[in-house]
This record gives sequence, C-alpha cells and structure tokens, in this order.
Amino acid sequence: MHKQFLPFSLVFLLSFSLHAQKKPSTTPSDAGVSAVTVGRVVRALAADDMEGRATGKPSGDRAAQFLATEFKRIGLKTMPGLTSYEQTFPAYESSTTSFSVTLDNAPVAKDKALLISTQPRLNWTNTDVPAVRVLTIGAQDNPQQYLRDIVRPKENVLVLLDSAHTTIFKRLADRLSHSSLRAEEPSNNSFSSVVILTAGPVASKVPFKVAAINTVRTLTLRNVVGVLPGKDPVRKAEQVVFSAHYDHLGALPPVAGDSIANGADDDASGTTAVVALAEYFKKKNDNARTLIFVAFTAEEIGGFGSQYFSKQLDPVKIVAMFNIEMIGKLAQFGPNSAFITGFERSDFGTLLQANLKDTPFRFEPDPYPTQNLFYRSDNATLARLGVPAHSISTDQIPTDKLYHSVDDEVESLNLPNMTAVITAIARSATGIIAGQQTPTRIAPETPAKPKP
Ligand SMILES: [Zn+2]
Repeated sequence: MHKQFLPFSLVFLLSFSLHAQKKPSTTPSDAGVSAVTVGRVVRALAADDMEGRATGKPSGDRAAQFLATEFKRIGLKTMPGLTSYEQTFPAYESSTTSFSVTLDNAPVAKDKALLISTQPRLNWTNTDVPAVRVLTIGAQDNPQQYLRDIVRPKENVLVLLDSAHTTIFKRLADRLSHSSLRAEEPSNNSFSSVVILTAGPVASKVPFKVAAINTVRTLTLRNVVGVLPGKDPVRKAEQVVFSAHYDHLGALPPVAGDSIANGADDDASGTTAVVALAEYFKKKNDNARTLIFVAFTAEEIGGFGSQYFSKQLDPVKIVAMFNIEMIGKLAQFGPNSAFITGFERSDFGTLLQANLKDTPFRFEPDPYPTQNLFYRSDNATLARLGVPAHSISTDQIPTDKLYHSVDDEVESLNLPNMTAVITAIARSATGIIAGQQTPTRIAPETPAKPKP
C-alpha cells in the first residue's frame, strides 16, 4: 500500500450484468493452501537479508529471483512472449544537478521551488509564454485538482502556489525526495513542472527565469509473472489475475539500530498469498480460465509495475483481478474476515462471499472509505480500464502503527489467520476460476472536469 497523496475524481458506479450468473458447482472440501509454504515464503521475503526489497536496488532484484524460483518450483508457465518469469521494463530516474529560479527579478530560495522534470536541460523565461503556461493557484483556490497534472506534466507549466498551501507544497517536496522515477523515456520533448511557493498574490505577467540541468539514469525494473493456462478450450481465453506487490521501502532512518523496512505485512503477506494460491491451483489443476500470478515491482513509488503489466494485456479479456494487500494482521472484524476495496463498484465481493456461505469466513466492504484505498494499490490501473479489479486486505490502516515503519516484521503477523485468509480467497474464487461466475465490470473513471 502506498501513501495517500493524489485525490481522484469520483468513479460513477454503473452496475449491469454482462453474463448470466450461475452458481458454481459445489467442490469437495479440501485442505486449503499450505501453511508451510505461507510461513516459509513470508519469512524469506521479509528477512533482513532482503534489505526491504527496494525498487531498482539489488535487494529488490533478489526478491524477484526468489519469486521466479518459487514459480518454477510450482510449475507455472511463463507469459506468452516472455522467456522467463521476469517481465522487465525500463524506468528513468532523474536527479537534478543544478536548479535556479528568479521571479520578478529576485532569486527564489531553494526551499521555495520544486522541479518535476526529466528534460536534460531547462531554460525558461517569461518570453516563452504560452509555450510555458503560468498557473496561478491563489490562497482561495483548491490546489488538489491540479496535483496530478503537476506530478505528471502534460505541458510545461510554472505553478505560482500561494503560501496558504504550504502544507501541500511540503507534501509534494517530500514525495519528490523519495522518488523521481518516470516511465517515459526522458527527452527535451517531454514536459516539466516548476512549482514556486509565493508569499501573497503575484501579477499574472510577472517576469521569471528557470534554469535546470538533470542527469538521467535508466533502471531495469522487474515484475514476476507466472501463468496457469485454462483447461477449457473456450474459457482459457479469459484471464483471472492474482497479484500483490513485492517491492517495499528499502532502508529508513534507523530506530533502535534497525533501519530495514522489512515490509512483512506490506506486502510480503500479499506476495506470499500469490505464491500459495499458485501452488494451490496448480495442484487442483482444474481451472477453466487462465490464471495469471503476478508480483509487482515499484508499487510504493508510483505503481509503475502494475501500470506496465496492465498495458501488456487486453483488459477486455481479464474477468477479475484479486489484488492482495496487507493480510498479515487481524481485520477489525476479527478472525476469519477481510475487506474488499471498492466493494460496491462491482458484484465481485458478493460473488466471493456467496462461495463461502458454508464457512465462517466473511468478506466485508472497505471500512475506511476516506482512506481512498481503492485507488492506492495496484488494482487501480486495471479498475480504471473497467476490470473488476479489487484489493483484499485485513489492515486496520487508520491505527496501524507499524505501517511503513522498520517494525513491520514477521513477528507482528498472525500467520494462522493469514493462511485462513488465503484459503478463503482460494475458495471464494472457485466460481470465477471455473468460468461459472463473471463479476460485473467497473465503470471506467470519468476524467476530472478542467477548471474553466
Ligand atoms: Zn506500502
């Protein structure tokens, strides 16, 4: 789970059934997923020698290799078009070598200006308007609606942000200090944002100068993907995705001599679920639809892994996505329960619950709607494309003191409950995997209305 930052426009719920729903055939009782696998995999991923599985670092690559070995042991196939379980793609990390700004012929202090750019060189002055757009966000304006375009600029923009919004400026600075990764190849044709915190109103035709030099490093990022092809000649064209992110934060400032953010719950727990589910379904070997198991990279720093993965598939063929995020601790509803984000946006949760009606397990709607969890994990990209893509979690996020701390360790997890959650996910998926249940699609996100 990554930190909440950007607001998103409302997604309007459009509920209709594409397929007649049939009840799944009753399956004989099974032993569930392997508790031994669950314990072994989560311990390996959250071990100190994985050094917090930071994206683009050797520790993150080691975690990917470990997962590829697990997929091979289980006997999954590789994705069509790939020769290994690793789905690699480039990302571009830029660091600013020099950056200076003047506004109204006076230099702007370093802590009052932010640069979001992968352009190797920037040289702007007020004579570049309108090729450089000047966006004034006054004390009375709401900056939230512009943040997404500032972080991922689609034009060159100089933002004059009134100091009434200092808190937002600081959050933006904080976010930029963590990562400056971009999915697009940098070039002088790409776009940049410069944000200046201004004390009070600024005249609209104020003279300005911006000069910056960026150095860009190309990183190779890797998702880990394994496939269990469908057994039904027709249904195998339809795909069900089980996913979680294996990356975490790497090192954090030390607390009591510990600087490793082990990320046992976030999200070694979900990644473990993906491995345990792959093993379980491979053993059952009766899936009509094709099952795709994926461990994403770079969730914590912007969701680059799931964004790349989503572009390699046809969303129309994906009937459901089970994204699993932080299932290592008890949910607020007690044992044998978990919640599903965006529960009301499709009938995915209702179908899952129907398959568990003879068990003590309950899936609940997300009890923390203000946390915007539906859009804070790797399900968001496919959900925006209409796929019933939901995250399953047990985390009591408003009160979770271990979240994004060096103390998110295996010792804080409830492994028997976690195994029960994974088994419940396996059983709740029965009808979808058999091709007997098809969740309703999610209404694609409506873009925010631009300000007149
Ligand atoms: Zn996280």
